[in-house]
Amino acid sequence: MEVRPKRLNEMWLFEEQTHNMKLGLRITQVLRNIKTQYQDLLVVDTPEYGKVMVLDGAIQVTERDEFCYHEMMAHLALCSHPNPERVLIVGGGDGGTLREVLRHDSVKEAFLVDIDQEVIRAARDFFPTLSCAMDDPRARVLPMDALKFIEDNRESFDVVIVDSTDPVEFAAGLFEAPFYANVHRSLKEDGFIVCQTESPFSDPHVVAGAIQDLRKVFPVVKLAVGFMPTYPTGFWTYGIGTKGLDPAEVRRPAPEGTRYYSHEIHRAAFVLPPFLKSMIG
Ligand code: SAM
Repeated sequence: MEVRPKRLNEMWLFEEQTHNMKLGLRITQVLRNIKTQYQDLLVVDTPEYGKVMVLDGAIQVTERDEFCYHEMMAHLALCSHPNPERVLIVGGGDGGTLREVLRHDSVKEAFLVDIDQEVIRAARDFFPTLSCAMDDPRARVLPMDALKFIEDNRESFDVVIVDSTDPVEFAAGLFEAPFYANVHRSLKEDGFIVCQTESPFSDPHVVAGAIQDLRKVFPVVKLAVGFMPTYPTGFWTYGIGTKGLDPAEVRRPAPEGTRYYSHEIHRAAFVLPPFLKSMIG
């Protein structure tokens, strides 16, 4: 990541999305720029996408397009599970996925477990439209390593949503079979896991690897696709595993007022182009 003047009075954020490709956004203000215990955290304001949170050089959320991602992360599982009551969000410290999860009246308790307290703090300070659900009485916000949290859990969740950073350092284990096995054990009989599985253009090995590892643990595994403009290439994937139910089937109403998700989008998201079918085998 670079924050550097381009012309006089102009600052730009460049995210290196692959070694050969960058996304550039003009910045009007740097709101926070710190090194946390775990990662570099930057919050900037931009004319194109509003406020943007960046971790270790990778864009995590922008005010303008976050709904495309958070609605898919939450509603693909919560509209397919017959009665989601207890939900765990792994990562997701910006609060966007939690906000969408708590739009479902069936949900009695939602845990958000993010390793980095500073991400949660930045979300509260600068992204009120994302962090707004953190004070909901059904929300439990825990700053801790989700790998540890899940190790001690047994059959207590209906849905686990893995809203993590890219698979490096302390997040790498969140994309691997031992973690998926712990999630499997933490899920009730009709349980679902949803994982953000990156882009088939910038990170084909992550998409294929995550699906292979999910298949080692879950009897039903499907991949869904969606648009996410500021994530690498804009073409995003969501890996979903269940203990038996078909995640492509819609079983519950969508919350009112969604801007990306709908039942039509749900069904269409599981229709994969042939190149992606062969990528995941
Ligand atoms: N989906 C977004 C993306 O792809 O850019 C990620 C948004 S969310 C801010 C990612 C969060 O995962 C970060 O706040 C990071 O601290 C958290 N995270 C990474 N590894 C973790 C772990 N082992 N336990 C809990 N949270 C973790």
